[in-house]
Amino acid sequence: MTATPPATWPQLPGERSHEALRNYPPVENWDNHVEYDAKAHPRKVPRTFMLVPTTCFNCESACGLLAYVDTDDLSIKKLEGNPAHPGSRGRNCAKGPATINQLDDPERILYPLRRTGERGGGEWERVGWDAALDDIAARIRTAIVEDRHEEVMYHVGRPGEDGFSERFLAAWGVDGHNSHTNVCSSGARLGMALWGGYDRPSPDHANARVILLLSSHLETGHYFNPHAQRIMEAKQAGAKIVVVDPRMSNTASHADLWLAPWPGSEAAILLSIASHLLRTRQIDAAYLERWFNWCTYLSNLHPDAPADFATFLDKLEAEYSPYTFDFAAEEAQVPVERIEELARMVAGCDHRLSAHVWRSAAAGNLGGWQVARALWFVLALTGSIGTTGGTSPNGWNKFIPHGPNMPPPNTGWNELTWPTEYPLSCNEMSILLPYFLDEKRGRLEVYFSRVFNPVWTYPDGFSWLSALIDPEKVGLHVALTPNWSETAEFADYVLPMGHSAERHDTQSYETHSAKWLSFRQPVRRVALERLGRPVSDTRDANPGEVWEENEFWFELSWRIDPDGSLGIRQYFESPYRPGEKITVDEYYRWVFENSVPGLPEKAAAAGVTPLAYMRTLGAVVVADSLYRQDERALSPAELDGATADADDVLRRPVTLEDAPPLVGEAGAVGVRHQDGTTTAGWLTPSRKLEVYSPTMRDWGWPEYATPGYIESHVSRRKVDIDRGELVLVPTFRLPTLIHTRSGNAKYLNEISNSHPLWLNSIDAARAGVQTTDLVRLSTEIGHLVARVWVTEGIRPGVCALSHHMGRWRLHEDEGSRWVTGRVDITHPDGPDSWLLRYRSGVAPFASKDPDSSRIWWDDPGVHQNLAFGVHPDPWSGMHCWLQKVLLEPAHYGDRYGDVYVDRVRSQQVYREWLALTRPRVGPDGQRRPEFLMRPVKPTRRAFRVT
Ligand code: SF4
Repeated sequence: MTATPPATWPQLPGERSHEALRNYPPVENWDNHVEYDAKAHPRKVPRTFMLVPTTCFNCESACGLLAYVDTDDLSIKKLEGNPAHPGSRGRNCAKGPATINQLDDPERILYPLRRTGERGGGEWERVGWDAALDDIAARIRTAIVEDRHEEVMYHVGRPGEDGFSERFLAAWGVDGHNSHTNVCSSGARLGMALWGGYDRPSPDHANARVILLLSSHLETGHYFNPHAQRIMEAKQAGAKIVVVDPRMSNTASHADLWLAPWPGSEAAILLSIASHLLRTRQIDAAYLERWFNWCTYLSNLHPDAPADFATFLDKLEAEYSPYTFDFAAEEAQVPVERIEELARMVAGCDHRLSAHVWRSAAAGNLGGWQVARALWFVLALTGSIGTTGGTSPNGWNKFIPHGPNMPPPNTGWNELTWPTEYPLSCNEMSILLPYFLDEKRGRLEVYFSRVFNPVWTYPDGFSWLSALIDPEKVGLHVALTPNWSETAEFADYVLPMGHSAERHDTQSYETHSAKWLSFRQPVRRVALERLGRPVSDTRDANPGEVWEENEFWFELSWRIDPDGSLGIRQYFESPYRPGEKITVDEYYRWVFENSVPGLPEKAAAAGVTPLAYMRTLGAVVVADSLYRQDERALSPAELDGATADADDVLRRPVTLEDAPPLVGEAGAVGVRHQDGTTTAGWLTPSRKLEVYSPTMRDWGWPEYATPGYIESHVSRRKVDIDRGELVLVPTFRLPTLIHTRSGNAKYLNEISNSHPLWLNSIDAARAGVQTTDLVRLSTEIGHLVARVWVTEGIRPGVCALSHHMGRWRLHEDEGSRWVTGRVDITHPDGPDSWLLRYRSGVAPFASKDPDSSRIWWDDPGVHQNLAFGVHPDPWSGMHCWLQKVLLEPAHYGDRYGDVYVDRVRSQQVYREWLALTRPRVGPDGQRRPEFLMRPVKPTRRAFRVT
């Protein structure tokens, strides 16, 4: 066994943050930690472990985990928190330790599989990695050689990494990145990006005076751990918590004020607060004068008014004066006193208002992006942006390293993901892919689905199923997944990829006012190497033939271009052994030595290499206390060659062959202020906060150039409660479940295994139903049958169904039997009618894990998303999740879990929402504003219509 180098490790964040919990084994002992075997209790049987850090993959928070690898047999016995991780500081939610279930799951996919019968027919054969790689590589190579680059698509659900997919997509020259963003966060992203370019918030909860959460969904799900621990610290220090949510969430139960508004009214509430702040001048005028683009506001909306800041404030106050508390109360259907109370709390925040909206209102409603925009307006008015205890943009608190020899930007533009109807979408219009394939806007030769399950996760999942079984639309579907899913069932290849303790990635998220980098690693591989038993690739250390994606992409890219003639192979060659294939060790060695500021110095202080530092601790702080980065002074290097344009934006010369950065315009580096100072500013075209958005004007929506309120498609006046109509909220999550991946975590399924429809007692009485009764919920394209739970935890007029259950499988042995029921899919009223009906629920099954025979729950839940038509918001592209439903007692013949869909009607709904758009080419022939975030940005020339 090789000894850990003599090292002086720093005090760990988890040790600093929580004095009462300093029970972490000291890092010096991580190679040789002894503790008693819990299963041998009451006998005291010592066991020796090697503790190896990695990063959780069960939500996007990227918390640290510490794997306990038994030195006897190198099995992973448990995963706990990693005290060296700056975001999670040694703590996790239930989903982190449940990683052990995913590793040990008896149903996980261990070998590459190739379909043998019809797609979806459930017939598979084992195939070698070489054969699968050669087949896939040949198809991609042919598509590239024949200039059909757009027919290669990589569609990712949970990325779990930063920057790696950009490498291989750029190297291949394909504009083929697709994401799940527009079932997730497109609305919030657009609302924030229009202000400052950055597309998500980073609240400094721990130091806040007032915490305003319109996304309790997020604090109870994503970021549950890093944000939750900081919210509770603030609460202990006296901060007030406000939760705006029609449902009593876990976070709402801890709130000082819980507002349960009519869904979709949130922007009206926020704008009434903004109006109050302006009217009473409880604003940070100096901040607004320096950072708002108020001159542009005046010149566009009041060209004849004096061009001074006092006039701007008067005009702004007048613009928002219709947003009274009474107006907001009427829209929200809540007592006006509660909104006034909220406004008083916000006004008294003393620049320490931390706030968050991500999904919830911004993801549910037509125009939901205005909720995020209105929230950012309130943050700006109170001077809480970037302050201690305030809210920063995510880009200040996230760090993405780059690898060696980065490929140049690609030159294509994929109309399947970035169509002309949605020039402002954030991001790809992924929910419309099956419809676009139907319309023959394109086809896919090779389609990778990766940690992604659209048949189940997306609205109108039958549209995905229809596309995936049609070889004219999808030539080859490769599912990269650790476990079976409703989508993997319809693949051609199912390739087993590792869980969080079986793969390499780097990841960073905005958990507080700092930048950190977390390293995910295959912990058995690390243990083997520490024992002096090197492996050739990660498959040697993983169960079966489970691989990791980094090595997979290296190998696939090499096989696409084996002789280097396509110019692809060079980006997968070793930086240390010219002409030879890069190894994953070499890749991360290079990244940590060259691309992570401060890491080489920290490693040197500890007496180890940067790679050894990250393999030992699993995370590093890159920068701390990153407040007010808009005021960051520009370095001489940044200023070199830059000149100020007519709007005082400092720019360097660029060409059309340059690519804009991930966010922001190519060449723009900062802004010159009236006092002569130059600072980094924001990432909008003006480098200011754009209270007036020229982008909205130029892309055909001048009426929304300033923050406003758009009536939701499920506003109170559009729902006829007397007729039995309600709003269905399908977006809330149980903090113990993950979309698809919790299906293979037995602990999580034992905790959460029922799927009730939350229904207020008033609505239940009107419908004549009680708890456990079955009800039929009719949507615009079909219906579903759910079981009622009568509760006061949801406001009247609204019902809710968690979005993690309703899992199913077509075939007995296609996995996730801890959570899935077996179904039949039939066409009872002709080929366009689709009925999903359970044959059986969750039931015990025989496996190598004796717990599988002890399953005591039986409810697989209701797959509600199938019965939702696509609702792409015409601005952000966000799927507007909230549904107007008709609730009735179940009909004769209805069965629990039934989902019926009329696909003719679903096509009509697609066209109805598409008709809301204003297809547009922007200034200078741009397909899309260059400054908006876009994964894998191509050259500026590709942004332009030729
Ligand atoms: S919040 Fe929970 S699921 Fe998310 S990364 Fe942290 S431990 Fe994992």
